[in-house]
Amino acid sequence: MNYINDFKIIIHELNNINDNNIYILREDLIPYSFGGNKVRKALNFLTEIKDGNYNCIITYGSKSSNHVRVIANLANDLKIQCHVITPVSEGDTFNNKISKILKVNFIECKLDNVKSTIDKTIENLRNAGLNPYFIEGGGHGNLGTKAYHNVFNEIVDFEGKHKIYFDYIFFASGTGTTQAGLIIGNKLLNQRKEIIGISIARNANKGIQVINESISNYINELNLDLNISIDDIKFNDEYIVNGYGSYNLEIKNTVINQYKNYGLPLDPTYTGKAFWGMNEYIRKNIIKDKNILFIHTGGLPLFFDFILKESN
Ligand SMILES: *Cc1c(COP(=O)(O)O)cnc(C)c1O
Repeated sequence: MNYINDFKIIIHELNNINDNNIYILREDLIPYSFGGNKVRKALNFLTEIKDGNYNCIITYGSKSSNHVRVIANLANDLKIQCHVITPVSEGDTFNNKISKILKVNFIECKLDNVKSTIDKTIENLRNAGLNPYFIEGGGHGNLGTKAYHNVFNEIVDFEGKHKIYFDYIFFASGTGTTQAGLIIGNKLLNQRKEIIGISIARNANKGIQVINESISNYINELNLDLNISIDDIKFNDEYIVNGYGSYNLEIKNTVINQYKNYGLPLDPTYTGKAFWGMNEYIRKNIIKDKNILFIHTGGLPLFFDFILKESN
């Protein structure tokens, strides 16, 4: 999948909200495994796997995880085994079914036993003579942060080329390295963009704490001369509804209307929830006459889960 190293970001205009110009960064159009931010992160893992001569991958994710699908695809390309620890849950999703086609070995366990199951699986693989590469759920870690630090730089390149400057960047924020990378890029280039993560599940305390850790880890590893405070982390938990995967009628209508009006596929777990949250935030905070960039972070198979469910 080396060819996607040359992939150029796609940003286009979408619509107007409150006299703001809304633009969208189409990470969903990255030409690998239905795209999305997990592909950006996976590219960095790929380099490490090759350099370290790893010969199997082990990671963690729920049945609807985009991360797992992308890593399954990557392992399949590299012709190495892929073991995925997943919490027990009912039913299948498109992501989960795609991963099965790619011959992922799913190891189900109770949520409480995830850590011990991961440790045990790694030990078993080592005992079997393999050299396992472990990836945290969601592609969390410095390589995930690096992916979106790079994307921030690409956004700034785009601005210079097209003479469009963004005041705000909104996106769905989960495990937080997408947000950590963007915040670091913003600071390093002395930009004053408002980077606003719309939480898809976590409460603000937890979300901010984890993003803060991600930022510190990255700054330490790269020895950056950078001071980022808690106040720089705008992680909004007002739009999580009832937590991961839950959605209300407004989110449902957002997904349907964006598809109807712009042919834009969103999903209720990530991008649709964040897009709705962004709209609400703009109205509530009376933001006007700004250039606003929404990052479509991918997750296209979840759009189809939604269609299947809502059409029944
Ligand atoms: C994983 C994911 C996110 C969240 O990214 P984080 O870096 O974990 O915050 C957002 N959108 C989609 C579609 C995702 O799959």
